[in-house]
Order: sequence, then structure tokens, then C-alpha cells
Amino acid sequence: MNVLMVASECAPFVKTGGLADVVGALPAALARVDVDAQVLLPAYPPLFPLLPKGEEVARFDDLPGGPGRIVKVKAEGMTLLLLDAPQLFDRPGGLYVDETGRDWSDNHLRFGALSMAGARIAMGAIDGYQPDVLHAHDWQAALAPVYLRMAGRDTPRSVITIHNIAFQGRFGPQVLAQLHLKTDWFHPEGLEFHGDLNVLKGALMFSDRITTVSPTYAREILTPEFGMGLEGVLQARAGALSGVLNGIDTEAWDPATDGALAQTYDVRTLKRKADNKTALRARLGLDPSSTGPLCCVVSRLTNQKGLDALLEAVPHLVQRGAQLAVLGTGQPELEQGFRDAAEAHPGQVATHIGYDEALSHLFQAGSDAILIPSRFEPCGLTQLYGLRYGTLPVVARTGGLADTVIDANVAALLAKAATGFVFHDVSATGIALVIDRVVEAYADPKLWQSMQRAAMRHPVDWDSSAQAYRDLYADLAG
Ligand code: ADP
Repeated sequence: MNVLMVASECAPFVKTGGLADVVGALPAALARVDVDAQVLLPAYPPLFPLLPKGEEVARFDDLPGGPGRIVKVKAEGMTLLLLDAPQLFDRPGGLYVDETGRDWSDNHLRFGALSMAGARIAMGAIDGYQPDVLHAHDWQAALAPVYLRMAGRDTPRSVITIHNIAFQGRFGPQVLAQLHLKTDWFHPEGLEFHGDLNVLKGALMFSDRITTVSPTYAREILTPEFGMGLEGVLQARAGALSGVLNGIDTEAWDPATDGALAQTYDVRTLKRKADNKTALRARLGLDPSSTGPLCCVVSRLTNQKGLDALLEAVPHLVQRGAQLAVLGTGQPELEQGFRDAAEAHPGQVATHIGYDEALSHLFQAGSDAILIPSRFEPCGLTQLYGLRYGTLPVVARTGGLADTVIDANVAALLAKAATGFVFHDVSATGIALVIDRVVEAYADPKLWQSMQRAAMRHPVDWDSSAQAYRDLYADLAG
């Protein structure tokens, strides 16, 4: 079975969030169940060193935004198909934004080109390579299924995966012609959404299947509270919609071998985890004599993640004797808020503004608990890293957080099944109440260690989800 993945990021090469982790880990997991997945990705500057090592396998003169060529290269165990179109991708700044943080004004062309290249490859543009299914990820790849459908019914089947429905790719109707889209598809049953082109909606209308990254989020997005305006479209296609939980790369995230840690450990040598707490506290200037739990945040600093509410609960957290370590970047007022909190509570709160992959591993290993008070969370990966590292997740009951963490309620504790703390109310009060539960549980080392062991034994690999994707592809390919 051949599957062409189309995506705008892929770990470890280029990453802004969980999408990259998924696209980077899924192909290896699929290979274990006999699916060959190649990944079509824009050739951004960090990928330039790979271009001379690869082979040009296709050329397109008429993509949106100009010509591009496809370079096939093997790297990190993956087969990458890089869309080399310097006029679109050779620039400083972020993957989606310029150096001032503003969206690139030609993002519709950049990702329209990616999507059209994907559709052409799915239709056989590379000699000797015929994908059975095209699997598009998020709005940046969402026109690929639309171009396939435009080419007729006798083309490979397609799947769109929604990693976050908040990002839809909305553009004015003037871009339709630039994107070679049929203007007679610009209506409410097609690509149109409140007068604009909505790229994600296009994929929801024209893909054969729709998946999202957890069963709970798959149900949530059918409602106005979570559907971000697309709930009606999704309800109409509910029969094609399913949730497949993300796994994690258990080799890159393994406390027994992780080179970014001060000390490696596993479920049998859990005591050694403490060396990482010592190292993390020293690195961040946190008081080493504090006896409460060290709670961390590793996150985009946005309101989606409920971090405005956490900020309000910081005085309570400190007053209960817990410590807080924050690693993240994002909304300026939240960055400033956590900097101020660190200044107000020296030794008890530390804030590191920035994106630092290696440090994120030490945060996971060195903390006792990881706080994820998201207002919505399609899947979430940091709670899975937390489980794997025996760092108990403290999560809001939403999306994939609700599907992956077992709350320390009485029944779960009696069954020795509890792996973290789940709460409902994302507010300063709700967070303060769950912090009380964390502090009390931490004061009982036997209980805490038994939860850590349950967490570390909880399966977080890709195995069962890779099988679910394989079954879905097989179903589609007939
Ligand atoms: P989202 O995709 O919504 O940002 P996820 O939890 O699915 O949230 O994935 C976030 C990923 O980004 C995780 O791998 C997390 O460790 C990583 N991450 C987020 N912020 C940082 C940061 N400041 N430094 C390092 N890694 C980060």
C-alpha cells in the first residue's frame, strides 16, 4: 500500500507544533504495518542541505505561484518529496509568518502550490510511483483533495486529517483564479464560506474521509462550541468522520536513553528521575529546598491553552508550596505575564521564553507534573510525553486530553489505574482546585509513585493508531 502524505511541517526537520511530530513519526509506524508513506513537504531553508543529496523526480511549470520541482531524498529513515520552489519557500522568518510575526501575504499560493503538487503526484507525475491514497494534513494541504476531485472521479482516494480546526485558511474570493480553482465550485455547498474561500472547508467537502486526532475531538467539532463555524459541514459528512488518536515517537521520547537529560531512568529506576529535577531547578534558578511538586508548562503561550487562567492561579500555586516552570513562546501579553510571575515569585516560578527542543525534554524529565489547562485540544502531545516520563499530566477534560489521561478519582486509584488529574473548569478557580489535589497527592509518596508507574506503563506509541490508519487506507483503496 502506497500513501502520499502532504504536509507543511515534519519533525525533526521543520516544526511549529504537534502536526510536525505526527507527520514525522507516522511513516515509520505505518512501515511496520506494510504501508509505504512518503511525505511531500515544502523545501524551506532548513531542508536546503538535503536537496543536493536527492534526485529530481518531477517538474511542474504551472503551480500557483510559479514553477517548482520535486526532489526525492531519504533522511531520518523517511522518504521525503521536497517541493523546491525558491520563490515561495526560500525566505527568512517562520514557516507561515514573516520576521514580524505576520502571515506571509502569499500563503494561499505557497500552500496552493504544495497541494497541487500533491494532487499531481497522486495522479502519477513521478515515474514508477503510484500512491493508492493521498493523505492531506491541515489547511495547508487541504486543496490537494480538492484538486484531485476537480480532475475527476477516477483518481486516488483522499483523506484529510484535522489537527486543529481553528486554522482553516480563509482568503478573499479574488484568489480563486490564482489557485486554478473552479469558480463554479464557489458556493455554500463547495468552497465558499461567508463570502471567502475556506480551504479547509474545501477538503471537508471533497475528501473521501475526514479524520481528526482523537475520538473526543471528533465528537466535539460537530458542535458550535468547538466546530469554529464548520460544525454544519462536518455534521453533513459525519459518516465520513472519525477520530484516530495520535501516538508519540517513543524512541525520540524515551527517558531510558534520552541524551538531553541529566540522568536517564525507566519505570524500575524511577528514583533517578530526581537528578533531573535537581538539574532543571539549577538551570532555572528554582529553590532546591522547596518540598512541593514542581509543575511545568511546555506550550505555545495562547489562550487556547488556557494559560491566561493559569497565570491568574499562580499566586495560589505558590502559596500551596508548588513550583512552576514555564517553557514557551506566543502571545506577547502571556509571555510578559509569565515573566512578571517569575519576578514576583523568585525561586518558585521560572519562565523561559523561547522554543528549545532539548530543554523541553529536560522539562518533561525534571518536573513532577505537567499542566495542560486547554480550552480545546485536538489531541495534545505534551501529556503523552508526560506519561512516558512519569510526569503526571494535569489536564482539562477536552479533546485528546480526555482520551489519554485517567483521573485520580477514588475508583481509578483503587484500581491502580490513575495516571494524572483531569478537571473541567478552565478558570483560575478550577485550576486552583486541581492544584490542591496535585499538592495533596504529591504529599503521599507511595500514591504518587504508583501513579507514576501507571503513567509510564500507559501505551503512548503509534502501534494501534497506525493499524487504524492502515485499515482506513485499505478501505478506501478497495
Ligand atoms: P500544538 O500542536 O497545539 O502546539 P501539541 O501538544 O500537539 O500542541 O504539540 C506541541 C509540540 O510542540 C510538543 O512536541 C511540545 O513539546 C512542543 N513545544 C511547544 N512549545 C515548545 C517550546 N517552547 N520549546 C520546545 N518545544 C515546544
